[in-house]
Amino acid sequence: MEDIEKGESGSSSAVATRRAEPRKARPPVRCSICARRTWLNATHLMEPPGVPEPRQSWTLCKRCHTALLVEMERSPILSPLRLRIATGIVAADRSPYVYAPSHKPISDRTWIIIMAWGFGIAMLLHLVLVVMLAFVSGH
Ligand SMILES: [Zn+2]
Repeated sequence: MEDIEKGESGSSSAVATRRAEPRKARPPVRCSICARRTWLNATHLMEPPGVPEPRQSWTLCKRCHTALLVEMERSPILSPLRLRIATGIVAADRSPYVYAPSHKPISDRTWIIIMAWGFGIAMLLHLVLVVMLAFVSGH
């Protein structure tokens, strides 16, 4: 019975064999537009040949890439510069370094705040109405 418990002395060799893990020291990939880290769904874009030098390339997160595709479809320009211009437009809209939002459509967050205020005001109006009705019918 004692032999079973004594058989576990060589466990240090198992630790030594675990050094061969893949390296994790990859530099963080950041979105070229919004500067967020994009671990997944990073899209690497390169300008097509034919644009004025220097050719540019971008790494985009999924959200910026989607916005860029929308902007590309809206753009009437049909030249190799189209990508660069669309990227500029998206960057003007989404970049954290742009502090003056000019023609931004109302974001989801703003809508939530507006709706919350709307509900609050509607509730107060109802309360006033109910109190008034009770007051009127009480007389
Ligand atoms: Zn982005």
